Amino acid sequence: MNQPSHWTHACWQGAAQLGLVLALLLASAQSYAKNVIFFLGDGMGISTVTAARIYAGQAGGATGEEYSLAFEEFPHLALIKTYNTDAQVPDSAGTITALVTGEKTRIGVLGVNDSVARDDCAAALRNTLPTLAELAEQAGMGTGIVSTARITHATPAGAYAHTPNRNWESSATTPDDAEALGCRDIASQLVAMPFGDGLDVILGGGRREFMPSDTQDPEYSGKQGARDDGRHLIDEWLAADANRRYAWNGDTVAEWLASPTPVPGQLMGLFEPSHMQYEADRARDPGNEPSLRDMTALAVKQLSAREEGYFLLVEAGRIDHAHHFSNAFRALGDTVALSDAVQWAVDNVDLTDTLILVTADHSHTMTISGYPRRGNPILGTVETEPGKPMLDATGKPYTTLSYANGPGYRKQRPDLSKVDTQARNFQQLGTVPMQAETHAGEDVAAFAAGANASAVRGVMEQNRLFNVMYDALFGQ
Ligand SMILES: [Zn+2]
Repeated sequence: MNQPSHWTHACWQGAAQLGLVLALLLASAQSYAKNVIFFLGDGMGISTVTAARIYAGQAGGATGEEYSLAFEEFPHLALIKTYNTDAQVPDSAGTITALVTGEKTRIGVLGVNDSVARDDCAAALRNTLPTLAELAEQAGMGTGIVSTARITHATPAGAYAHTPNRNWESSATTPDDAEALGCRDIASQLVAMPFGDGLDVILGGGRREFMPSDTQDPEYSGKQGARDDGRHLIDEWLAADANRRYAWNGDTVAEWLASPTPVPGQLMGLFEPSHMQYEADRARDPGNEPSLRDMTALAVKQLSAREEGYFLLVEAGRIDHAHHFSNAFRALGDTVALSDAVQWAVDNVDLTDTLILVTADHSHTMTISGYPRRGNPILGTVETEPGKPMLDATGKPYTTLSYANGPGYRKQRPDLSKVDTQARNFQQLGTVPMQAETHAGEDVAAFAAGANASAVRGVMEQNRLFNVMYDALFGQ
């Protein structure tokens, strides 16, 4: 090195300080373009996280209680208040709107503010809220949505749709008078996103919402599309750009995943006419549909090629559905599948420029109760030692997991001593008879790692998680 020999101690110190300033400047320049991977477990309340942790640990041969799901290792945590502006116990539409727009709103509406009443199309058109995915598209970033539910279902639709009714998923379920006023169904909003070049990665279920009712489903011979306006939105989406690619089965996803470089262009994969399979049933799917982990891996591979950064929403959409059916088996299986997807992200992204946020939109009424011994099967009946069930006040065994309400209600408590409560179709008992078990209103958890993760702390209003993600994407 050609350094002047007369440098004093002060000079060296000054140079060191200059180096530090340069390093800081470089770091702040790099920190501007950041990525956000937002994982949402639909209905993944804290009791679901605890039970899934035990379930996963026991599946690995351990007692289970000491096990950690991938996101339970994250350094930053908050409790999240989930209520909608007009509902103590919320739904997925109002909550995803809070999460991706920064404003709480009413139950059942998507991407519109609190002034919009359910079904009021005219008010919805005047009161839309920009979403994180739209802001990212406007800034030239990459965007993606992944869900095991229909891609037009409340949570994924929250990224791109604005509607006064979450059920307006296709033209068939959108009232004609609303369409006449200019309100468009959710599927048609997805393929015509008016920001940037539209979503870059779209992976999930729900292809019937994009296909006309006279068109045969590629996977199931007896099923057709759902649209009553004759439009084939998948074909329209493909025709709008020669670089777009579409898949309806897992074999194409495997090819895309095997490619050593990102697949050129934008990707859409719609793997079921309605929701995708539960993780517990996925292996039996005729279309060999991909796991949540593989869809996450494909989306990250595609989006991480974007130098401007990216926003990716990944929903484990069916934890909620299994709970509504009082079927803890599938709810826990889908929660573990979410943990697998999060672990993939932790292992494969750079946390210095990427925020990984994991939360739920709302809870469910499942409780973990009784005094089961350590290591008692989480789906089993409560036992003090193997083969010795604890009995209720009427002398009958009972399960550790049960629901406050739902289809598991029985007029007479059944004798479970000869029932396999760990079977995949078992419905846990519910106290109040209801066709579908309901959401629950206590706080959910938010787990964060990586860029700006320390902003997740304390007890937070759900819409403040928007700011955490916004700051990670666009700088503070
Ligand atoms: Zn639900």
